[in-house]
Amino acid sequence: MLIAVASGKGGTGKTTVAVNLALSLETQVQLLDCDADEPNVHTLLPLEVSETKPVTTMVPSFDESKCERSKECAKFCANHAIFVSEKGITFFPELCYGCAGCVIICPSKAIEEEDRQIGVTQHGTTPQGVDIIYGQLDVGEALVVPVIKAVKAAAQKDKETTIIDCPPGVSCQLVESVHGSDFCLLVTEPTPFGLHDLRLAVEVIRRLKIPLGVIVNRAGIGDRQVYSYCEKEKIPILMEIPNSREIAELFSEGIPFVTQMTEWKSKFQDLFKEIQRRLKQ
Ligand code: SF4
Repeated sequence: MLIAVASGKGGTGKTTVAVNLALSLETQVQLLDCDADEPNVHTLLPLEVSETKPVTTMVPSFDESKCERSKECAKFCANHAIFVSEKGITFFPELCYGCAGCVIICPSKAIEEEDRQIGVTQHGTTPQGVDIIYGQLDVGEALVVPVIKAVKAAAQKDKETTIIDCPPGVSCQLVESVHGSDFCLLVTEPTPFGLHDLRLAVEVIRRLKIPLGVIVNRAGIGDRQVYSYCEKEKIPILMEIPNSREIAELFSEGIPFVTQMTEWKSKFQDLFKEIQRRLKQ
């Protein structure tokens, strides 16, 4: 089963939920950290990295001696990654999405494809036996989606349960991360900001036709608007995590709270069973 853990905004406790769920299950679990801009699963679950693989994307390579200054490549490139003048070609690799359209359209055959590294995937296992794969974008790079794709492609398909820690927000990074999941857990806070971002996330996940449920983190703060919204939209609230000083202190020390507050393991196991039950229905 593939469970995505997402949230409309950062800082809601999405990674906390993904990590504590992974540690609570008695099945074989792998955890994919698709927040390649700022992966942090490995800070809560230290692991010995056993494999590092580069992630590359295609970029065009220009042969100026063949270029006849047609400017077809620059006209084609929707990202304005190419500027052609009589003096030569200027290429902005960080704007290039690697579509290869310029290679195909060049009438002088002056452009070829080459690979450029934009990040890595790291693989390892924690002492608790959780397999982790996380993506890490290289400094200065902006193309997160190819790194997310690489993380998902590296996942072992024979694992009973795969949990995906998605990037925050509702951009294409979320869509790529959550795509193909059996179920999506949306983590939110019971505040007006939490509600605003939850609404956006629900819209995206519903368009992808993925069953979803909500986890309310820091329950007890804010107001009841998130609860009213979920009731109106018939979205199940599958868990509430209280606004607890103990949980916050453990998090600040990089300790997943189920390892100290062990009564929570059974709550996460119940959450997992409830997801299975809903999927069977
Ligand atoms: S590969 Fe695509 S995005 Fe990159 S420069 Fe060429 S046309 Fe632009």
